[in-house]
Amino acid sequence: MIEFELSDGLKNMQMLTHQAAENAMRPIAREYDEREHEKPWDFLNLMWQVSHSNPIGGLGDRKPKDGPSERNLGMCVSIEELSWGDAGLYLSIPNAGLGGAAVAAAGTPEQKARFLKRFTEGGKPKWAAMAITEPSCGSDSSAIQTTAVRDGEHWVLNGTKIFCTAGLMAAEKSEGFVVVWATLDRTAGRAGIKAFVVEAGTPGMYVTKVENKLGIRASDTAALVFEDCRIPLDNILGSPEVPKTSEGFKGVMATFDATRPIVAASAIGVGRAALDFVRETLVQHGVPIRYGLPSHKLTALERDFMDMEAQLQAARLLTWRAAWMMDNGMRNNLEASMAKAKAGLVVTQVTQKAVEMLGPLGYSRQLLLEKWMRDAKINDIFEGTQQINQMIVARRILGYSSKELS
Ligand SMILES: Cc1cc2nc3c(=O)[nH]c(=O)nc-3n(C[C@H](O)[C@H](O)[C@H](O)COP(=O)(O)OP(=O)(O)OC[C@H]3O[C@@H](n4cnc5c(N)ncnc54)[C@H](O)[C@@H]3O)c2cc1C
Repeated sequence: MIEFELSDGLKNMQMLTHQAAENAMRPIAREYDEREHEKPWDFLNLMWQVSHSNPIGGLGDRKPKDGPSERNLGMCVSIEELSWGDAGLYLSIPNAGLGGAAVAAAGTPEQKARFLKRFTEGGKPKWAAMAITEPSCGSDSSAIQTTAVRDGEHWVLNGTKIFCTAGLMAAEKSEGFVVVWATLDRTAGRAGIKAFVVEAGTPGMYVTKVENKLGIRASDTAALVFEDCRIPLDNILGSPEVPKTSEGFKGVMATFDATRPIVAASAIGVGRAALDFVRETLVQHGVPIRYGLPSHKLTALERDFMDMEAQLQAARLLTWRAAWMMDNGMRNNLEASMAKAKAGLVVTQVTQKAVEMLGPLGYSRQLLLEKWMRDAKINDIFEGTQQINQMIVARRILGYSSKELS
C-alpha cells in the first residue's frame, strides 16, 4: 500500500517544531543575519536542551535492527520546519550534524557509541562538522590532498580544509569533533580516501578563518588547517585497508545518502517560508490566490504562484521518499541526489520569483523575503552542487560509472 500521510507521531513533532521555529527563530532571524559572527546563545542553549533530551534518532541509520523506523523522515519533517523559521539559525543548532551523519554511515557500532553518545548526554552544547572541501578540491572529492600517515598508534593528519559548516564550534568551541576526509595513498585515488574523527581541541587542528557569506549568515563556515595533527588509530571510520577497487570510498560517500535529503528538506523550508509570506501579503492586499478555477480564468500571478507550490510539493515528495527508503534499509543514492537537485533548484527559483512578485517589498531589508532569497542559494552548492547531483542521477539511470560519466 502506498501511504503519503505522516504518522500521528510525526505530525505532532512537525507542529511542535513549527512552534519553536515561529516563536524562537523568526524573532531573531534578522538580528543574527546582520550580526554574522555573533552567537544567539539563549536560542542555542534552548535548542540543545530540547534536542539532547529528545533525540529524534540517528541521521543516516540505514538498517534499523528492530524493523523500519521514521528517523530520517522525521529529520526531514523537523528540518523543513526549522528552516522555515530560519535556515542559518537551524544550521547553527548544536547537534551531531554532518559529522554525526558520517559516523553513522561509515563507523563501527563501537565508534557510533563512542562519538555520538555525547549528543544525548547533556552538559554543554556540542557540535560536529564534516570537512571534505579543500582549496583545490570540491566537487571532485577524489582529488583530496590532505594526508593521513600512520605513526605507531596514531594517524598524523596534514592539510587544509575550507568552507566547513559549524567548523568553528566543532573544532574549538565545544566538546565535539570534526570528521576529516584524508588520503592514505594519493596514488590510489578514491580507494585511498578515508574519514577520520578529530576531537575538538586536538593539538595540530586550527581554525584559520570564518567566512563572511551571502546567506545562512547565522551559521559559521570555517577554514581548518591540520599540521601534524595526531589522532588515535581507532579514529578512522571503517577499515584502514586501501582496497584495489573504490568500494571503501563508496562507504564514505554513503554519508551523502543521509545528508542530501536533509539539505533538500531545509531548502523546502526556506521556499515554503517565502510562499507563505507572499500568500499572506496578497491576502492583506485583497488579492487572494483563487484555487479551483479553470486555468484560463487565473491571473498570471496566480498561475505562477500555483506552479511554485507544485514544484515545492514535488521536491518534498522526492525528499520524503529518499528519507523513507533509508528508514526502510533500502539503497537511496539515486533518490537522495534527485531530491537534492530538485529542491536546490526549486528553492532558488521560488524565492527569486517571490521577491519579484512583491517588488520593493520583496527587496526591502525590513522584511525577511530578500534574506530567504540569499539563504536559498547554498542549497544548490553544498552536499554536491546542482550539476554534480544531476550527474549522479544520470549515472544511476543510464548505468554509467563515475569514470564513464564525469
Ligand atoms: C556556506 C558553505 C558551507 C559549506 N559547508 C561545507 C561543509 O560543511 N563541509 C565541506 O566539506 N564542504 C562544505 N562546503 C563546500 C561545498 O561543498 C563546495 O563548495 C561544493 O562541493 C563545490 O565545490 P567547489 O566549491 O570546489 O566548486 P567546484 O567543484 O570547483 O565547482 C565549481 C562549479 O563547477 C561545476 N562543476 C564542477 N565539476 C563539474 C562536472 N564534472 N560537471 C559539471 N559541472 C561541474 C560545479 O557544479 C560548480 O557550479 C560549503 C560551502 C559553502 C559555500
